[in-house]
Amino acid sequence: MDERLLKAVEDRTDDLVALTADLIRFPTVNPPGEAYRPCAEFLGARLKKLGFETEFIRAEGAPGDSDRYPRVNVVARFDGRSPGPCVHFNSHIDVVEAGDGWTVDPFAGVVKDGRVYGRGACDMKGGLAASVIAVEAFMRTHPDFPGAIEISGTADEESGGFGGVAHLARLGYFSKPKVDHVIIPEPLNKDRICLGHRGVWWAEIETKGEIAHGSMPFLGDNAVRHMGAVLQAFEEELFPVLDRKMTRMPVVPEGARRSTMNINSIHGGQTEDFRPGLPSPNVPDSCRLTIDRRFLLEEDIATVKGEVTGILERLKRERRKFDYEIRDLMEVLPLMTERDAPVVKAVAKGIMEVFDREPDYVISPGTYDQKHVARLGHLYDCIAYGPGILDLAHRPDEWVGIADMVESAKVMAIGLNVLLRGTTG
Ligand SMILES: [Zn+2]
Repeated sequence: MDERLLKAVEDRTDDLVALTADLIRFPTVNPPGEAYRPCAEFLGARLKKLGFETEFIRAEGAPGDSDRYPRVNVVARFDGRSPGPCVHFNSHIDVVEAGDGWTVDPFAGVVKDGRVYGRGACDMKGGLAASVIAVEAFMRTHPDFPGAIEISGTADEESGGFGGVAHLARLGYFSKPKVDHVIIPEPLNKDRICLGHRGVWWAEIETKGEIAHGSMPFLGDNAVRHMGAVLQAFEEELFPVLDRKMTRMPVVPEGARRSTMNINSIHGGQTEDFRPGLPSPNVPDSCRLTIDRRFLLEEDIATVKGEVTGILERLKRERRKFDYEIRDLMEVLPLMTERDAPVVKAVAKGIMEVFDREPDYVISPGTYDQKHVARLGHLYDCIAYGPGILDLAHRPDEWVGIADMVESAKVMAIGLNVLLRGTTG
């Protein structure tokens, strides 16, 4: 065990707390993408002082990017004394809106009872701060380390990551030979390693009809009734099938260890917003439904889509005047990093040293920026590991435990030691 390294992390506890609180004080709320530039510059300035080369990359043209709300990302790199692999810590700097129900100011960085409170404390400014402290402690105790360390603070994870990791990955920031191992300190709990996520298919289904006066519906064709037939078929034929599909992926919570589909929204008939309070007088000629289908490593996306389009095609054959369109909104394949991948083994060693037990290996029910690292960067040695309790993310009075941050910073520091120096001692 590298006592000096662990003590160097512990000695920085106050700094870790202060850094977390400082990061929370930037109200990087997304949407719209507030305060990205000052937050990225703050992080960059700190790393520059440590000797990192820093770059600020704005994702011009990304969704939401404007001069008022620029999508600014920071990437910092420190090259060691000799060649070797590069370990990259990636954190998103954006947070979701505070919402109601807070008993503390969500952007004040309040510290009390061994916790730091604030929007983003858990998801994921506490994880970002822990990774910075882990890196600082490692660099101080092993100044001659080989290889390179990178830390990035990126935009827009909460809205899909297009102005953040996806943009950088397209530019080669998440590919070999620049980067070899990626750790994303998302709040998955300090003793768990998140290997990936289920797949996603979002689509919009539209049924068509024909407009007519509401008093004579027989003169038109009701698109909402057609959608009713779609929903009924989903209930009878699709949901029971999905519910029976279990995966070997260790998804948490356990309910997500099977295929799921959410009906996100349904819109039919004349829009109500231009005549608030007044009902639509017509037979609706269009009805749109958005589905969010989450699928498993054992399923392929063609089959996933075929289950839905099969039902729609059957309705088209059997139901009078039924017509539809379907549009893909998003698709992400399921991902699971192997347990014997170098980054998994290195962080597992850290967890065993700090907690004296084997880590839990989990899969996230939803996606996060790892999807872009894999899909666009073609880099598969990537995990999510960080402090913070997943259930607290996005909720009022979000907090991160100080002891949890210190322990997970120790795990990250040991992981770095294993990946760069090949040793825990
Ligand atoms: Zn997050």
